[in-house]
Amino acid sequence: MLTIDGSFGEGGGQILRTTLGLSLITQTPVRITSIRKGRARPGLLRQHLTAVQAAAQVGRAEVTGAALGSQELEFRPTAIAPGEHAFRVGSAGSTTLVLQTVLPALLRAGAPSTLTLEGGTHNPMAPPFDFLDLAYLPLVRRMGPDVRATLVSPGFYPAGGGRVRVTVTPAPALAPLELLSRGEIVSQRAVATVSNLPGSVATREIDAAAAVLGWAPACFAPRVLSGGHGPGNVLTIVVESERVTEVFTGFGVKGVRAESVARKAAEEARDYLEAGVPVGEHLADQLLLPIALAGRGAIRTVRPSSHTTTHLRLLGELLGIRASVEQISERAWHVEIGR
Ligand code: ATP
Repeated sequence: MLTIDGSFGEGGGQILRTTLGLSLITQTPVRITSIRKGRARPGLLRQHLTAVQAAAQVGRAEVTGAALGSQELEFRPTAIAPGEHAFRVGSAGSTTLVLQTVLPALLRAGAPSTLTLEGGTHNPMAPPFDFLDLAYLPLVRRMGPDVRATLVSPGFYPAGGGRVRVTVTPAPALAPLELLSRGEIVSQRAVATVSNLPGSVATREIDAAAAVLGWAPACFAPRVLSGGHGPGNVLTIVVESERVTEVFTGFGVKGVRAESVARKAAEEARDYLEAGVPVGEHLADQLLLPIALAGRGAIRTVRPSSHTTTHLRLLGELLGIRASVEQISERAWHVEIGR
């Protein structure tokens, strides 16, 4: 059995998810120790436990240590079972991070899958639905599998209660991805969404983002949702280029001023635009896994985060891939992956 130390590098949930995802693909039993030891509340939180259960369901796996707070897990997959699956995070935990765990195995499974995920769809420190839909999945489709996601209803942190449907038509192998330039900008927009909060929160965010980005007024829009959703607020900034679409998100949090939420997201988008690269910080760490599965590929990106460096090390350990990271200008890095 392969043992992975869950506390190295970033020491967060990503080590758990990637290890489970690759255990499914390689059908190798794994033991993960010191799970999320680097975090204030270590061990499996609800969202991580759902990810373990989702992986166990897809992999018809035997699991020990799958309990809230657990810092050690053994996972023995026996199959990859595509088809109809439903995963409920049971809180506002992120649906997209649960998807991240099982999607790699389903991309190359022997038959299509349909997934229903319930929980949070727009959570701080996780990929929001719009990022999944507009940035990540189009690139996965470019590698061969046809994966589509639909937001049935949004679930904002902390209330959750959202629902996402995902269909996966696998491909026998993934094609390598090379994303070295983004091409011309095709469109750029920023949408401030509020749910059961005053519309003025959205207009304040738009004003703050506009001051940073300097785009034409037509690029900005407020969106007010009402009805059954909990209170929620996100600012979604979308930069669509010829070869890639990037999404930057500000998450409204109680006690944090709308202006600073918006400014931070807008600065991230501005830095990306100024760096001239195709791949932003979050897309970089998330693309590494499909590229590693393809066997080779390359991206140009902003300064690699500790998620990216941790992920590269983990992929090296689990798949034996080799990677190089080279700074090519003041704000641009080249990441090359190959066996
Ligand atoms: P913890 O960090 O508490 O262990 P976690 O399970 O949320 O919890 P991380 O290891 O931090 O896991 O991984 C978070 C993932 O979410 C990373 O892949 C990161 O790129 C992604 N992510 C975070 N914020 C965004 C964002 N704004 N847009 C897209 N992806 C994001």
